[in-house]
Amino acid sequence: MIPPVLPTYNRAPIAFARGQGSWLEATDGRRFLDLGAGIAVNALGHAAPELVATLTEQAAKLWHVSNVYTIPEQERLAALLVEQTFADTVFFTNSGTETAELAIKMARKFHYENGQPERTAFIAFEGAFHGRSTGAIALAGSEKMVKGYGPLMEGFQQLPWNDLDAIRAAITPETCAVILEPIQGEGGIRPFPDAVLKEIRALCDQTGTLLILDEVQSGMGRTGRFFAHELSGITPDIMMVAKGIGGGFPLGAVLATEAAAKGMTAGSHGSTYGGNPLACAVGARVTEIIADPAFLAEVSRKGALLRQGLESLIARHPAIFTEVRGEGLMLGLKCIPAPGDVVNAGYRAGLLTVAAADNVLRILPALNIPDQDIAEALSRLDQVATDLAAA
Ligand SMILES: *Cc1c(COP(=O)(O)O)cnc(C)c1O
Repeated sequence: MIPPVLPTYNRAPIAFARGQGSWLEATDGRRFLDLGAGIAVNALGHAAPELVATLTEQAAKLWHVSNVYTIPEQERLAALLVEQTFADTVFFTNSGTETAELAIKMARKFHYENGQPERTAFIAFEGAFHGRSTGAIALAGSEKMVKGYGPLMEGFQQLPWNDLDAIRAAITPETCAVILEPIQGEGGIRPFPDAVLKEIRALCDQTGTLLILDEVQSGMGRTGRFFAHELSGITPDIMMVAKGIGGGFPLGAVLATEAAAKGMTAGSHGSTYGGNPLACAVGARVTEIIADPAFLAEVSRKGALLRQGLESLIARHPAIFTEVRGEGLMLGLKCIPAPGDVVNAGYRAGLLTVAAADNVLRILPALNIPDQDIAEALSRLDQVATDLAAA
């Protein structure tokens, strides 16, 4: 019999009652150190006091009004994001996949307005993840995501990851945009090399192709920069943001240059909830905290500390772990056992991690994880490796 909750997830039999910082307490009393942060969402940890204060203050004033009115909280968050990034303008959504929808629409509209309506084709990459809407699954194109859901939206092509020759050959007069995650998340924490990102940016400039960066997972301080593309020195025309921006409150954003957004006039797009006062009040607090250079420097320092510990873990357990990759606190540990088995061993050790493709275990803790919790996490990972080696 089908359960009341549609069974689209293979859920672990753990339910949580409360959280504090990097720790979660299950309904049966067990305590877990959280290196998944709701998949890079709880950027400031669980029940962060600053966010609880902002949320409750705003909740007592105003939750929701329609986007047919002026929303000062939304204007304030947009101004903060514009001030801190390449972007001139922002649209707010409730999730990552909605940002993919708008990115696709905005890019096509740009060329349409430019008198090149034939430029509708998107170039994406194998291993990509842009969400679960019909547009986002067509973009990523993996069999796992699209099987049974056809006919898919047309105009999307997936190239081998990180293959510059393939990109050069694929851009045609019909190309609308190239879309990529600077560091693939679900794909297994795979960073595009800086030189490749620079070359893609140059190819886009030469051909009038838009560059869309999906920073839903890599953004909001995760890599020690406000956004991951800052590491390579390039900027996108359109950028997708979600996950960390609400610190756990559902919120997403599409950031764009004035030029790329030129077709998006009144009536061209919308959302009932997107950018409501409650979400934007919380998002603004998260953004103020994370965009602070001193906070970002701490993310880098903590990332280096964690990475160093993971390197020595690999040295001690070469039959279990083989490689660490990523940036800041967006780290991937390549495993010899199936990452799902490592995640399960983690549960036994009171540790939460997330599996990804390419046999990678994702480590995405709260960006403000205390150093002592990093040490505890490394000790529990050591226990996990010992446990798996004995199995
Ligand atoms: C999680 C994710 C998405 C989708 O976000 P949802 O909020 O689940 O719709 C899109 N792109 C990337 C890179 C992601 O990690």
